[in-house]
Amino acid sequence: MRRSHVSLIAIVLMLGSSVSSAWGADKLRVVTTIPDLKSLAEAVGGDRVEVDSLTRGTQNFHEAEVRPSMMLKLRRADLLIENGLDLDAWVDVAVLGANNPKIIRGAPGRVDVSRGIPVLEVPSVRVDRSMGDVHPLGNPHFSLDPGLAPLITQTILDGLARLAPDHRAAFERNRRDFLSRLDGEMSRWTKTMEPLKGAKVVVFHPDFIYFVHRFELVQAGTVEDKPGIPPSPQHVVRLIRQIKEEKIKAILVEPWNDVKLAQRIAEEAGAKAIVFASAVGAVKGADNYIAAIDYNIKTLAEALR
Ligand SMILES: [Zn+2]
Repeated sequence: MRRSHVSLIAIVLMLGSSVSSAWGADKLRVVTTIPDLKSLAEAVGGDRVEVDSLTRGTQNFHEAEVRPSMMLKLRRADLLIENGLDLDAWVDVAVLGANNPKIIRGAPGRVDVSRGIPVLEVPSVRVDRSMGDVHPLGNPHFSLDPGLAPLITQTILDGLARLAPDHRAAFERNRRDFLSRLDGEMSRWTKTMEPLKGAKVVVFHPDFIYFVHRFELVQAGTVEDKPGIPPSPQHVVRLIRQIKEEKIKAILVEPWNDVKLAQRIAEEAGAKAIVFASAVGAVKGADNYIAAIDYNIKTLAEALR
């Protein structure tokens, strides 16, 4: 009895020390809303940060559910990095529940990486629900456009350095190293995609527009005729005809889309449905920022060949 009591205390002490070393006193506790930003925050923060994401890459970020576990992470956070543009607006509810003044909107511990992003697909008319899940502030899925990484990592660096000014030089060094690695990859990616310039693709849901623009592809259509709403049979028939006529080779799908429907359409039209790494961790092998983009380039180049 007494022995088990003692060992229980030992276990509790061990747990306590492993928790405090994971959340080392000198490390900034960073929470991001999506895994792409976790990967970038780790690249900039290096060993001076401990980063946790509120969602996983296999999730539809628009529809993330606020859970008590999110509030727990946010309660201990020094810095909250959000995507913005309404992708992760649910985080405000979680922050409210976390009761942590350090990360409320306007506090030094709050970073919105959409600041300064040249936003695509900003609606020119007032958006309402009858139009489907139209992105009301423009397309928020910019995080995996490698051309925007310099801007996003600068915003992250500013946030980290605001809280830990002594480490600014280290953050700058980390960011420079990361961007020079990314640069090397970028020239490889550009070379791979060069002969495919102007190629038409169909997307299931309009989530790849930044990628499509960056590599000078053309988005010829969407499987959903209204974003977020299953397509009508007439739309599917029209789309199959269009894919055949325009000899489109690829349909880009996210893991949570109706992959079977995309495959059926692709099969009938003589194209290929490919599940894209729509985020870090969305597919196997896409477990960090560079790996996710690399996965997309490889899969797409193969499908378009
Ligand atoms: Zn979206």
